[in-house]
Amino acid sequence: MPFQTLRGATDLLAHDLTAWRRLESSVFTIAQRYGYRELRTPVIEDAALFLRSVGETTDIVQKEMFRFTDRGGHDIVLRPEGTAPVVRAYLQHHLHKTEGFAKLFYLGPMFRAERPQAGRLRQFHQYGAEAIGSASPWVDVEIITLCVHTLLECGVADATVWLASMGCREDQARGAQHLQERLTPHRAKLCEDCQARFDRNIFRVLDCKQPGCRALAQEAVKSLERQPGLPPTPFVLCEACVAHFNTVRQGLKAGSIAFDDTHVFARGLDYYTRTVFEVRSPRLGAQDAVAAGGRYDHLVEEFGGPAVGACGFAAGIERVLMAARPVDPVPVAEARQGVYVAIPPKSNLMPEAFRLAQRLRQQGTRTTMDYDGRSLKSQFREADQLHCQVVAILGAQELESGSVTMKDLAGGEQRTLPLEAFLEAVRA
Ligand SMILES: [Zn+2]
Ligand SMILES: [Zn+2]
Repeated sequence: MPFQTLRGATDLLAHDLTAWRRLESSVFTIAQRYGYRELRTPVIEDAALFLRSVGETTDIVQKEMFRFTDRGGHDIVLRPEGTAPVVRAYLQHHLHKTEGFAKLFYLGPMFRAERPQAGRLRQFHQYGAEAIGSASPWVDVEIITLCVHTLLECGVADATVWLASMGCREDQARGAQHLQERLTPHRAKLCEDCQARFDRNIFRVLDCKQPGCRALAQEAVKSLERQPGLPPTPFVLCEACVAHFNTVRQGLKAGSIAFDDTHVFARGLDYYTRTVFEVRSPRLGAQDAVAAGGRYDHLVEEFGGPAVGACGFAAGIERVLMAARPVDPVPVAEARQGVYVAIPPKSNLMPEAFRLAQRLRQQGTRTTMDYDGRSLKSQFREADQLHCQVVAILGAQELESGSVTMKDLAGGEQRTLPLEAFLEAVRA
């Protein structure tokens, strides 16, 4: 084959898309039920959008962005994630003025120049939701609940929610200092990336791809003094952040959303504050979350908007499909449907046959026909393979009498009807 998909990119055939369409329709239904409205943003964006939001020291920005300069010298990327574009659109279309609090959801391809040999996709797909314009912890509760609800609807029944609070910027600064102090004696044992990020973003050690780094960070966190009523955390939460976190936990319990707040983790993107969560499925590897998200209270302001809070999540569609329990078995025999318009070969009736096919399609009937002048026998065989219900034969006799001969492939009966009666019979 001279041409193949690039590594890390895949074709989706009709066979695959059955599950995709079902997932998309579940996401639409549930998101709308929670009052979220759809937003579609372009796949290309200004590179600065992600440098400013996701963070210059993150793997995404440093190693994984598809970034190029166009002929006009603009620095462009294929979007690696959905939150920054949604916030950009929220401000660009003045939703902060017209709606204030906006609830948006999206679905589409994302791009990361990851190593395809590790089985990672370079074009993958996400759906997600963002609630922008509120600092209320109940928005966090709604976002997590919506995330879990969509996953359940998509067939992911055995997922667990890991919940934590990363605190506000001040709490993060205090926590970073403590973690640096505890890790300094072990600094030489950390990987190159973690050493480079040690001063600027120490929390990245918690989600480093090297298990050795993660283990050291976990140990360091466990050695920190526990704050009363809180699970172990590297973030030294202030009173307001503790209250926020407690309301989120209380709200999830009220909504019967099971969660586990005993794990120490941090989301790797720079914009997160306070609530963060990851949804994990035993069907995926231990490292991979099926969905994740959290609160980002400074991003809108950093993009030039008002100082309002926001919270959101994203789920990886390929991962959701992997984590979902297998759905209803393939039907044994697909129901027969539609019409196959057959004409005797060399009959010069193509224009009439095509006109008939169009009349059928316009009235809503799935219609197929042969364009290659094959034998009637071949046409019948194809009609059977395509699970058509009816073969409509249009020969010289039929044309002359303004009729169509129809053979029911399910029942086997054959009859000749005037054209209008035939169309009526097919409609019925
Ligand atoms: Zn705080
Ligand atoms: Zn590391």
